[in-house]
Amino acid sequence: MTDRSTTPPLRAVRIEAKCPICEKIGTAEFRPFCSKRCANVDLGRWLKEGYRVETDEAPTEDEGGGAGLGSTSRTG
Ligand SMILES: [Zn+2]
Repeated sequence: MTDRSTTPPLRAVRIEAKCPICEKIGTAEFRPFCSKRCANVDLGRWLKEGYRVETDEAPTEDEGGGAGLGSTSRTG
């Protein structure tokens, strides 16, 4: 009996990229985005992160400071 049902190979299942913005199926033109609009949204986010605004706040430099307070070692 060669009654094999046509089972598609695993590779046949194409992984459709979802639009990271609205999670719709992306189009070939704007993939992985579904539209140019979403592509721009993502691009905007990227640029925002890229152009990181320099803050006045200095980087925290806490390197094992505060020796003494809350110390478990006692003398006595
Ligand atoms: Zn989208």
